[in-house]
Amino acid sequence: MFSFVVPNLNPLLKKQVEPLFKSTRLGGLANIFAVWLVFSLVSSTHQENHAFFLGISVTILSIIRILVSENYLRCRNYLRIHLISYLLLTFLIGCAWGAFALMLISQPDQAIRNMVYLINFGMIAGSLATLSVWLPAYISYIAPQALGIFTVLALQGSALDFYFSIAFLVFILIMVSASLSFHRAFKRELLLKQRLRFSQKELKQKVIDRTRELEIINKSLEEEVKQRKQVEKDLAFIAYHDELTELPRKNLLIDKIETAISSAKRNREKIAVLFIDLDRFKTINDTLGHIVGDELIKAVSRRLKSILRDDDTVSRNGGDEFVIVLQRLNTESKPVVVAEKIINNIKKTFNIKSHKIHIGVSIGISLYPDDGKQALDLLRDADTAMFYAKKQGGNQYAYYRKSMSNHLRKRLEMETEIRTAVNNNEFYLVYQPKVNCLTGKTIGFEALLRWQNRQIGNIEPSVFIPLLEETGLIYDVGIWVLKSVISAIASGDTGKLPVAINLSALQCGDMELVAFISEQILSARVAANLIEFEITESMLINDFEKTEVFLNKIHNIGCTIALDDFGTGYTSMNYLSRLPIDVIKIDQSFMRCIDSNTRLENIVKAIVTMSESLGIKNIFEGVETIGELDTTKALGGKYIQGNIFSKPLSVDEMKKWVRLKTAKIEAVHQIDKRKSSCFLKHDNSV
Ligand code: C2E
Ligand code: CA
Ligand code: CA
Repeated sequence: MFSFVVPNLNPLLKKQVEPLFKSTRLGGLANIFAVWLVFSLVSSTHQENHAFFLGISVTILSIIRILVSENYLRCRNYLRIHLISYLLLTFLIGCAWGAFALMLISQPDQAIRNMVYLINFGMIAGSLATLSVWLPAYISYIAPQALGIFTVLALQGSALDFYFSIAFLVFILIMVSASLSFHRAFKRELLLKQRLRFSQKELKQKVIDRTRELEIINKSLEEEVKQRKQVEKDLAFIAYHDELTELPRKNLLIDKIETAISSAKRNREKIAVLFIDLDRFKTINDTLGHIVGDELIKAVSRRLKSILRDDDTVSRNGGDEFVIVLQRLNTESKPVVVAEKIINNIKKTFNIKSHKIHIGVSIGISLYPDDGKQALDLLRDADTAMFYAKKQGGNQYAYYRKSMSNHLRKRLEMETEIRTAVNNNEFYLVYQPKVNCLTGKTIGFEALLRWQNRQIGNIEPSVFIPLLEETGLIYDVGIWVLKSVISAIASGDTGKLPVAINLSALQCGDMELVAFISEQILSARVAANLIEFEITESMLINDFEKTEVFLNKIHNIGCTIALDDFGTGYTSMNYLSRLPIDVIKIDQSFMRCIDSNTRLENIVKAIVTMSESLGIKNIFEGVETIGELDTTKALGGKYIQGNIFSKPLSVDEMKKWVRLKTAKIEAVHQIDKRKSSCFLKHDNSV
């Protein structure tokens, strides 16, 4: 039933009843005032007690209704209960007013009756404004009143009452229709307000959404602009900087040198250009792989940067070349200090991907204004000086001198020549015997490469071997050496004695070479143990694991392995026991210094003892004099390769050497004309 009276508590109803509750106080006061007015009219009549009772009822009900409304306005909760209470109270107040009207039946005074009617009319009309916002409230208020008045009018029967009843009917109809239209207007207004609020809310939301969208678009645009700017910046950076090290490239370097030159010109200062090239970098790159090579370049660039002042420039010229520009020099000693610092710093071990790498640098220095007045000239001169420093053995610096340019020209000439040397048959091999100095027996030969160019003439192996390595021609030439040696063995030129072949670092680790060696040995039908391969200690340090596999493969074919130039690099004794090394060749530098150095003597003695205990043969290299021979013997040395017995021999000389032995001729061979007293015996019982 309640839900019929208060159907659905939609938000609109909430809004609708809001003014109802708000106007309760006014309505209540009006009712109380009116009821006591009526009381005062009838107080002098016999109806005083009834009127008083009704007055009290209306007053109490009005006050309760005010309290209910106030309570709702305070908590704005339990609307249904509040409404029902309100409705009930309003109805009861209406009933009280109806009872007042009924009371008039027994009121003889027409004037009082008329007054009460008027007050009733006034209440009905007055409540229109406050109660018609919610029709149930208005109806419940006026219905009992109207019923009471009509009953009175109908029962009175006087002409005036009749007119009154007609007027009252019209009045009630007007009031109801007014309340209806008032109610509709109010509802319409509420709906409009609600719609307006809704549209406002919607609009607000739209504005918020749009603002957010715009903010996102704006942000993404900003991001895009930022990204584009970054890309542009990156592109500019890449164009002028090396990707690997992030150092300036050559183009930026030239700009920087030009700028430095202009400022030096203004301030009458000097600048220095240091051209830096890593020694043996190609070998490291080829043996350890380019990833290690790249890491090494990065590590070097970091060390270079750490050495320099902020206003000095370091750039990467490509490959393993770096260029440093030193500004504001007061004395020429400044570049020297930097160069020495660089050399000492780069000398320290690099730990890269579990490899311990030792590397050197060659540095060429050119000065402004002494050597050149333009960036490119200074760079060229520093490059020439660097090349000179490298040729002097590397790990050093050199100032540019005019005479150096000739060296460079010569080198370029040589580089062009060496490319055609194989095809022009300019390479040939010489063979140096290795001899047992106690018995005089030849135990084998070492094949040594020679290059005779038609224009340049004879070129030292120490000059052309690095050139072959740098140009990558060492692979082809190495194959040629191998084929030549195998064919010399196969044709009997070596007298069935083993021949040692030198391997360059680049060849060491080349698995294709292993396959080629075994193929050549098989097809030439030579015994594999007649071929020995000489490797140097530095090859072990670079990539031990790879070298180990390579050497084991070669050893498995049946070839022997010699460790060359022993004592010049760092060879852990552990390496010797782990690798299939058959021979160590004690470097000739020991021969040169041993006389004056007992400590060195002890070291060599220890090497001999140690190698023998490991079952490794030792050969002394570069024994030239009788004194050195005696020393070798005293140190426990048995096998010798040196000019004292024989310089490297041409194939024909080697054949003769071998023939002498096979014919069992006790030959007397004069080794050194200056040392004619040195005679050696040979036999074929090797
Ligand atoms: P190496 O392997 O240490 O060769 C020994 C060098 O010592 C040879 O120099 C030889 O002529 C020299 N020699 C021998 N006995 C004496 C002596 O009593 N006194 C002096 N002062 N020197 C002596 P060479 O022929 O100039 O070769 C130099 C280096 O070139 C070799 O040193 C080797 O590392 C390299 N080499 C030579 N041929 C080849 C080759 O076919 N391939 C490769 N990769 N390297 C080679
Ligand atoms: Ca050698
Ligand atoms: Ca050697």
